[in-house]
Amino acid sequence: MLRRKHSEIKRQLLDQTVVSGIGNIYADEALWRAKINGARLAEKLTRRQLIALLEAAAEVMRDALSQGGTSFDSLYVNVNGQSGYFDRSLNVYGREGKPCRRCGAVIRREKFMNRSSFYCPRDQPRPRG
Ligand SMILES: [Zn+2]
Repeated sequence: MLRRKHSEIKRQLLDQTVVSGIGNIYADEALWRAKINGARLAEKLTRRQLIALLEAAAEVMRDALSQGGTSFDSLYVNVNGQSGYFDRSLNVYGREGKPCRRCGAVIRREKFMNRSSFYCPRDQPRPRG
């Protein structure tokens, strides 16, 4: 389904009619883990890349749930109404100007659909053109 989409992969990840439950923070984290820039067109990614990306998204959500979710996302408030502390272990989201935990390059932030996208310019190069 994703490979038939002529739009950015991050937009597809956030589209609840395509994949359910992935928010902005988790999308950035999953894209970082899979080393894919969110601005790349879904249809230009290989089947292998897309599978890796979906696996990364599942992993990010598993990690988040086991740690109580992110404090930014009201969906992940625990039964006591407290927000989680997954934000402490975010690899890319909210880390503009800090070194990438994988390669040391400086994390960048860009505007995306009235929100922000965070990515590593070395691991996740922007698409050309
Ligand atoms: Zn990096």
